[in-house]
Amino acid sequence: MEKFIFVTGGVVSSLGKGIAAASIGKLLETRGLTTTIIKCDPYLNVDPGTMSPFQHGEVYVTDDGAETDLDLGHYERFTNARLTKDSNITTGKVYYNVITKERRGDYLGKTVQIIPHITDEIKRGIKKVAHDSEVDVTIVEIGGTVGDIESLPFLEAIRQLRWEMGEHHALNIHVTLLPYIKSAGEQKTKPTQHSVGRLREIGITPDILLCRTEKPISKEQRDKIALFCNVDREAVIEAADVKHIYEVPLSFKKERLDDLILHKLNIKKEDKDLEKWKELVVKRLKNPEKEVQVCVVGKYIALQDAYKSIYEALAHGGIENNARVNIVKIDSEDLEKETVGKYLSGADGILIPGGFGDRGIEGKIRAVQYARENKIPFFGICLGMQVATIEFGRNVCGLKGVNSTEFDKDAKNPVIALLEEQKSVKNLGASMRLGAFPCKLAKHSLSFKAYKKENISERHRHRYEFNNDYKMPFEKKGIEFVGLNVDKGLVEIIELKGHPWFVACQFHPEFKSKPDAAHPLFRDFVGAALKKKSSK
Ligand code: GLN
Repeated sequence: MEKFIFVTGGVVSSLGKGIAAASIGKLLETRGLTTTIIKCDPYLNVDPGTMSPFQHGEVYVTDDGAETDLDLGHYERFTNARLTKDSNITTGKVYYNVITKERRGDYLGKTVQIIPHITDEIKRGIKKVAHDSEVDVTIVEIGGTVGDIESLPFLEAIRQLRWEMGEHHALNIHVTLLPYIKSAGEQKTKPTQHSVGRLREIGITPDILLCRTEKPISKEQRDKIALFCNVDREAVIEAADVKHIYEVPLSFKKERLDDLILHKLNIKKEDKDLEKWKELVVKRLKNPEKEVQVCVVGKYIALQDAYKSIYEALAHGGIENNARVNIVKIDSEDLEKETVGKYLSGADGILIPGGFGDRGIEGKIRAVQYARENKIPFFGICLGMQVATIEFGRNVCGLKGVNSTEFDKDAKNPVIALLEEQKSVKNLGASMRLGAFPCKLAKHSLSFKAYKKENISERHRHRYEFNNDYKMPFEKKGIEFVGLNVDKGLVEIIELKGHPWFVACQFHPEFKSKPDAAHPLFRDFVGAALKKKSSK
């Protein structure tokens, strides 16, 4: 049945196209359809793996080890789809493939051009995902804003696909903005008309408009938008601001967006409500019984999107514990010896997320020390685990010159170091330890208590590892190596004896947490923080 939904965005960026696409996925799944998503990104990087989080926000990692756009994270959180390296198509990847083919001689005799060769490569990538995943509906989100030069080949590709598929097999949804001008007391439709105009200039007529708005849309405004944008009246959908992203599927449902899509794609499915999602996620999120404060000590704190999956996973942990998690974001560079107590004294839990480079490292180490000494629940993730071991080596084992070789190549005691196989790596793109790897848990551990099983699989994105030469001295002083990659002999999780909850892992559990199924470590970390709070 292969059907496609193409999602574009107009007027401004940051309209939440990714969340809109994920919410559409959720609605369709609720109606009994299987779905997947492809995110098309117009930049020239092959993937976002080499970009700073300040440029791009979080890099989301899939099971098969692709470094992808964070919108794929929304999609995996909202739906049951499992995404792969094919789910993110960038301009860089498309050109790379086309030029590789050209060098191989695949186009022998031809002039290689944007149309048809680049657009054909985009179409091939989109069709491949639909074909391989065997889902009912493939959602394709085009990054950027209509009118940008960079996204033109993607738009041309989806125009052609729509034409090839014909009616009832593909539809275009355009996410747009109805700005409210306070001084005039009016909601404006002109920017929407213009952005739909831009789409029509290149041959795309939207079937549905998702209008982001602060205020409800009146009947008159709906009529006006429908008339001037050439869409059906019922296809003007109000996408009102909501407090929390997990309410978006409910607000789309209220607008009967799922009925509209099914009708336009000629799919017949029984109506189903979102009651379970409402009860399990939204109600608990909005009316929690308790609250708890978690300090996240990071280095990309200024950018909301840099730790997206971490913040979401904390919220999920809160949902399962019936508590609101108040996240206090702390820039590790602010944590000096004298100020660490001032910043962290209100914390019921302290989390240190992943990161790269030495900026802000010493502040993170101080935060670990504070959590360890004050018995505050501590959760270290990737770099967070690495700094926990540096802190322990320095302050508990009393070793001199303890560091990761990422920050000090000649560290006297390199507790974190590169494996032999990483030492010869020259290219920095897609060359970390990436994707899902197995981990075996010790039965007496807090981690086992959380997962309730011995063998787990988690996603990775890092280069440096715990140096096994330090296992014995660390164990003697109370660190327990409770999670191991048995095949490679690598440390995956450490815990600290005699501390109420001190868990640090080399992998990224945040990528597998969902609003209706919190990741077990996040759930128990929030649980431990609540306990800490009630004991105060
Ligand atoms: N910079 C560290 C490494 O490469 C940690 C990476 C991370 O936190 N994702 O090993």
